[in-house]
Amino acid sequence: MFVRHRARTLQNPLLLSSLLGVLLAGCTTTPTQMPVPQPMPRTSTTATELPTSLPLPLPLPKALGQPEGPGETYFDPNRTGVPLFDLRAHAKQPLGGGLVAGDFARNNNALVPYARIDARLVECLARIRATTRRKMTVLSGYRSFRHNEAIRRAGEGAAKSSFHISGKAADVVSMMPVEQFAIATYLECGCNTGLGISPRFYHIDVRTYPVTPWGYGRSQASRLAIARRVQRNVCGN
Ligand SMILES: [Zn+2]
Repeated sequence: MFVRHRARTLQNPLLLSSLLGVLLAGCTTTPTQMPVPQPMPRTSTTATELPTSLPLPLPLPKALGQPEGPGETYFDPNRTGVPLFDLRAHAKQPLGGGLVAGDFARNNNALVPYARIDARLVECLARIRATTRRKMTVLSGYRSFRHNEAIRRAGEGAAKSSFHISGKAADVVSMMPVEQFAIATYLECGCNTGLGISPRFYHIDVRTYPVTPWGYGRSQASRLAIARRVQRNVCGN
């Protein structure tokens, strides 16, 4: 059912929300204050990226005079074009879906002054929150190139060209079971979404190609198997 109706469902947010509501009946807890999902105009997108109604780039002040060249602190090795924003006075600026700019300017919950934030990532998290009505907290969003290199060299599992460096990834803490989280992720953000399973968080990234869910640590084997089954059912691969 998922595979046959996926394309049409992803183009119709209301149908999508209804379907997900049926799928997740019995899984959700008390609804929070999240707004009812609204149909989103399909603008500002390419064929392979998550459509977003948010402005591209986001209306935040761009960082001026920061080291963004190759190998420098704020270098973007993926060359995505997502700007580096100056969030020193804008951490509380709402971005939509109950999310603020500071949510994406975090490293293990510590606020950073400059960050890249892709509107598609904001859209993805906002959609998951709206449709599941479950609380989620961003543990880590943007990560500078230099910080990513430091934790990569420390053997903490960071990828050399991590999507965090481009403002396209977030590690979110949620009490949602992996099945619910994975269903919401692929239905709401599409099948070109990266999903990593950790004991502490879910990694989400918005990319332009599909990837099999991965785990951080062997202890996640059973949860990882669930995520991969959901991906096969929803995305058909
Ligand atoms: Zn991550």
